[in-house]
Amino acid sequence: MPELDPLLDTAPCGFVSFADDGRVVAANGTLLAMLGFAQEEVVGRSIETIFTVGARIFYQTHFFPLLRLHGRADEIFFLLRTKAGDDVAAIANAVRRERDGEWVTDCVMLRVSERQKFEDALLRAKKAAEDARSAAEENQRQLEDANAQLQRQALELELSHQQLIEQAEELEQQGEELHALNDELQALNDQLTARGEELEHQRAVADDANRAKSAFLAMMSHELRTPLNAIGGYVQLLEMGIQGPVTEKQAHALERIARSQRHLLRLINDVLNLARIEAGRVDYNLESFPLRDVADTILPMVEPQLVARMLRYEVSVATRLSVYADREKVQQILLNLLSNAIKFTPSGGRVTVDAFADATRSDCVYLRVRDTGVGIAADRLGDVFEPFVQVDDSHARRAEGTGLGLAISRDLARGMGGDLRARSQHGVGSSFTLTLPGGKHVFEPSPVTAGQAT
Ligand code: ADP
Repeated sequence: MPELDPLLDTAPCGFVSFADDGRVVAANGTLLAMLGFAQEEVVGRSIETIFTVGARIFYQTHFFPLLRLHGRADEIFFLLRTKAGDDVAAIANAVRRERDGEWVTDCVMLRVSERQKFEDALLRAKKAAEDARSAAEENQRQLEDANAQLQRQALELELSHQQLIEQAEELEQQGEELHALNDELQALNDQLTARGEELEHQRAVADDANRAKSAFLAMMSHELRTPLNAIGGYVQLLEMGIQGPVTEKQAHALERIARSQRHLLRLINDVLNLARIEAGRVDYNLESFPLRDVADTILPMVEPQLVARMLRYEVSVATRLSVYADREKVQQILLNLLSNAIKFTPSGGRVTVDAFADATRSDCVYLRVRDTGVGIAADRLGDVFEPFVQVDDSHARRAEGTGLGLAISRDLARGMGGDLRARSQHGVGSSFTLTLPGGKHVFEPSPVTAGQAT
């Protein structure tokens, strides 16, 4: 190893000389002291001994190739490594030259601790600037996002505003329509009120007229009954021969007068009844009683006619069936229905009376009169309950009735909370069903009556 000049050995900067293969040929005391190595630990070894890993790579890839190319390198920054493993920053100036037949590089190394500090500070400042820039960028991005969102919201607001305006217009239009509709309804209502008042007035007039009619009929019937009874009485006197002998022809004429008198009297009585019912002047004596009682009471009344016309008669009314009604009115209805059945059923036919309760309506009891008579044409069935209607045209039948029986019967049934309905088939027979409210209690059961008259 060449002996170094003492001046160079102690110069205030490091010095190292190394061959192209990296072997250190000389190192001055200042460098060895700076790095904490003994001379033999550096001289004769690879120059990389005093380099950090980064410096080694830099030496291989840049520094040495630079020296080979230009023969020198100035102010190159190196991170040297001390024997203790610490980093020491240094600036190197190097020259490559041939000496004693060998290429060597002489290199001066100046420690740069201040520069390192500045570089660190610079790096920190750079990093802070970088951070600030990315924060600013982030802020900018957030601002842009917020802006875009605001723009979207503004657009949505604009749209909803537009929709609100449209809805308001629509509502206004609907309001106007409603207003018009309301006016129409009001007008209609006024008309209805006027019409209602008019109807009310008409109803009052009709009620008055009806009352007047009923009163007139009642009075007329009463007035007519007196002379008619007198006619009947005088006919009887004549028939009895009290006024002198009566010839056969006269007796025949008297018989016809008497028949007509009876018919007129019945007609007047019926008219009087109907007028009373319509005027609401009929009192109903309602009570619970077994329906069988009525059937039993009526049978003796119609028996002679049944026998005379040779009709078969069947009654089937269970005693437990009770109704809540006016006993006499029910008798009157049943008598009327039976009289009709007898009247309109040819000899040899059958008349049946039965009663039953409705399984679905426990509060209703039905009394039914059926016959196998002439029946009623379907198109006339609805008329039979109208006053003075006689469906059968035959003169003989007409003379027997007044056409008021069914009208009275149905009015009475309804007056007791019931009803009367008809079913019939022309030429086959008829069926009249009286509906009555069920009785308030059940009577003792006893065998079913099955009456028969031939
Ligand atoms: P009328 O006094 O004529 O019997 P009703 O009001 O009792 O008056 O009956 C009206 C008409 O209904 C009768 O004239 C008859 O044409 C018809 N009618 C009533 N009951 C029967 C029946 N059982 N069979 C056939 N026709 C009937």
